Parts: sequence; structure tokens; C-alpha cells
Amino acid sequence: MAKYDINELFSNDIPHLKFLSTADGEKEIYDAVSRCLRCGYCETSCPTYSLTGKETLSPRGRNQLVRKLIEGKMKPSDAAAEGLKTCLLCGACTQTCYGKVPTADIVLEARREMSGHGKSLYYKIASMLVSRKNIYSYAIKFLYLLKKSGLTYLSEKLGLFYLLNMPGLEEAQKKALRTPLKFLTEKLEKDERLKGNGKISWIYFSACGTEFIYTENGLATVEILLMVYGDGIIMKNECCGLPAYNYGSLDEARKAARKNMELYRNISMKFNEAPIILDCSSCAAFLKSYPSLFSGNEEEFENAKNFSSKVKDITEFIKPAEILHRLDSQKLEGKRVTIHDSCRASHGQGIKQELRDVLKPVLKEKLCEMPESDHCCGGAGAFAFTNIEISKKILERKIKNISSVRPDIVIASSTSCLMQIEKGLKEMYPSAKIMHYSLFLKEFLLKN
Ligand code: SF4
Ligand code: SF4
Repeated sequence: MAKYDINELFSNDIPHLKFLSTADGEKEIYDAVSRCLRCGYCETSCPTYSLTGKETLSPRGRNQLVRKLIEGKMKPSDAAAEGLKTCLLCGACTQTCYGKVPTADIVLEARREMSGHGKSLYYKIASMLVSRKNIYSYAIKFLYLLKKSGLTYLSEKLGLFYLLNMPGLEEAQKKALRTPLKFLTEKLEKDERLKGNGKISWIYFSACGTEFIYTENGLATVEILLMVYGDGIIMKNECCGLPAYNYGSLDEARKAARKNMELYRNISMKFNEAPIILDCSSCAAFLKSYPSLFSGNEEEFENAKNFSSKVKDITEFIKPAEILHRLDSQKLEGKRVTIHDSCRASHGQGIKQELRDVLKPVLKEKLCEMPESDHCCGGAGAFAFTNIEISKKILERKIKNISSVRPDIVIASSTSCLMQIEKGLKEMYPSAKIMHYSLFLKEFLLKN
């Protein structure tokens, strides 16, 4: 994030930090921060506070910081900026807070203020790039080819990423190695089973992480949907809009949401209404929050409510009664399995028990629960690239918790967690591997 002057950005002359978009409509952001009673009950649930013990890096500290900025009492300080920049937006604090203070939303709104609500050229380019799937796909293929040609290796050796003040990019390009040249919807477009010739029971929404990186997870999800629920189709959707939302451009996020809602409307008119299934919990949580993007427009708000009511994370969609008779654990002889609850599944959507209801009866004693299964892994979207040191330390705690139950397989449901924990396991506990829930079901539990 670029350097900025907090006093300048939060000057009393600018109408700033006024509203917070929530699922119940727009709220005065000052009312939201004022609900924080400073009791500190949430502190130990916060990964950055647990790690550093710093009040400015705690939910209470962050709420007080935004409150002071609004009141004009805040002096310019890097510590204040650090408090906002280092929030993982994991939502763990809100879950433990009696008053349900939406600290992550408050922090995000303050960050948008810092970046000029996506109006600077840098943020405009960034949010446009990541929100348009076709442009994004070319950019990723280009990155992949650069890596294959050895140019990114050369840049790394010459320290170019550091010269450009983008050390996180170095991490990002390393992870681009697993990018396939053929993306998920390209792989699925010729599949005759997905033409939707009659009534459909599901619509698959291809999240960017699955589309561009973990295509095998998407293929597994689609196979399970076909096998268990019958006919369905691929939505050929845009990006969900989350990256634009996080980069500060609510307009770009709204554009992506409108396109996806229109696609859904067209599909439901051509076929019938059906659940929209995702296999990335971050994107599923964001699609469920679409109504908050349109809280100022009644018609769009109602459309978004209808759309989001159809959205289902694959981890909640599959019900034990529908699948248990198809599962056994023969292929897992001698193996131990544990579950990492992604923040956007557990804190963002309240999903935790659903996948255990499917897995426990089959895995029995092979399922070994790790401590703090819903503690953030430090991935948090681009957080791992922008806050490298904190992210690494949070990851170490996650891997310590994982290794304490000696698993062979770790199950997760968000792209960011898959990337982050894959990296952590390789470095600190290489005898275990991470798998997406769908892929795990397909590879290990589904009977032939
Ligand atoms: S966010 Fe909630 S739990 Fe945390 S200090 Fe404020 S009121 Fe207490
Ligand atoms: S959202 Fe997560 S990182 Fe941010 S204050 Fe809350 S618990 Fe801490």
C-alpha cells in the first residue's frame, strides 16, 4: 500500500467514513464503531493481537482508531496505518463479540478511504484487472509463460521485486507455477453432460482460484454434483467482485455483481431456479453479501437478496442423507485426516458442522480434530503477499496446530487457505498434504 497522510485523508473538511454497507442496509459507520464497548472480550480471538500483543493490532484497537479518525482526534502515524493494513478481515472478532461489532467491515471501509475509494490509477487498474475474468486469464497465462521462460527467476535473483517495492510479488510469481495453461471452464466446455437439456438441479459458479489455479478441485466438485444431484450447468460467470471490493472500488464490485445476477436471471428463465454452488468459501461468502452492495437501491437490493439466497458453499450443500451411502474409507487405511475451517466458511458463513456431519460417520477415528481449527492461516487473500512477516508467523501457528494431531491429509475450502497451508506444510510438515473438500471426497471416499 502506498504511503499516505492519514490526517489529509481523514480531514474534517471531507465527508469521510460516513456509511457502512451491511446486509440490513446502510448504517452510519460512527454508530457501528460506537457499539464497541472496549470490553476486550474479542482480543484473544484475533490472530494479529494473539501474535503481537499490540493493542493497535487488536479489534478493539482498530475500532478505536477508526473512531478517532472520524472524530478528527487522530494524529498522523504509521502505527495507525499499520493497524488498518494488518487486519486479516477474518471476522473472528465479530463472532466472539456480544454486540456483533463488524470490525472487518469497518476496517475495510477505512482502507477504502485511504485508497481514495479505488479512484487512483493504481487501484483502478488493479481492480479492473482482477475483476474481469477474460483480462485476468490472459494476465495469468502471461505470468505463467514468464515463469516458464525463466524471466521471473532472473528478476528474483536480481532483486527486481524488492527494487519495485513489491516483495509480495516475488511470492505471488512462485505460486503461479501451478497455474495450468487450460483453465477450468475451458476443460468443461465440451462436456456433453453439462449442456443443460432439461431441468437443472444446480448451477456451478467457477471461482477464480479454482478456475485459474486449482482446476482439479472444480472438476471434482462438478463430478460430485453430477453423480449425486443429476443435471446442472456451468454458469460462465464473471469474477465475484471480491478483489475489487477489497481494493476499494465498490463500483467495480457492483459491476461484477450485476453481471452475475443477470447471468443467473437468464439461466433461471431458460431453465429453472436452482442453487448456485461454489467451491471457494471466500467467493461464496462474498456472493452471499451482494445485498449489502445495493443497500441504496430497493429494486437491486431485492434482486441481490434473491440471488444470494440461492448461493451455497459446497461444504454446506452436500447433505449426509444424499451422499453417505456412496462413501467408504477403504482407500484411507492407516491415514489420519484433519479439517482446517477457512475464515470465510466458519466466521463468514457460519459453516463448520456441515462437512463434519458428512465426514465423521465415514472417517470415524481417522478424523482427528486439530486445536484452533478456525484460527486464520494467515493467507487471507492478498494478505500473505502484502504482510509477509505477520502472515508467516500466523502460518507457523497453524502448522503447529496441524502437526500436533499428526495428520496425513488436511482438508480446506478456500483457495487462499489451500495456497497458504500448502506452502506451510512443504516447509514445516511435509508428511501431510492439503486437499480441497471436494477433491478429498472424490479421490478418497466416493465408491466407484
Ligand atoms: S469489538 Fe466487541 S468484543 Fe471486541 S472490544 Fe469491542 S465490544 Fe468488546
Ligand atoms: S477481522 Fe480478524 S484480524 Fe481483523 S480485527 Fe477481527 S479478528 Fe483481528
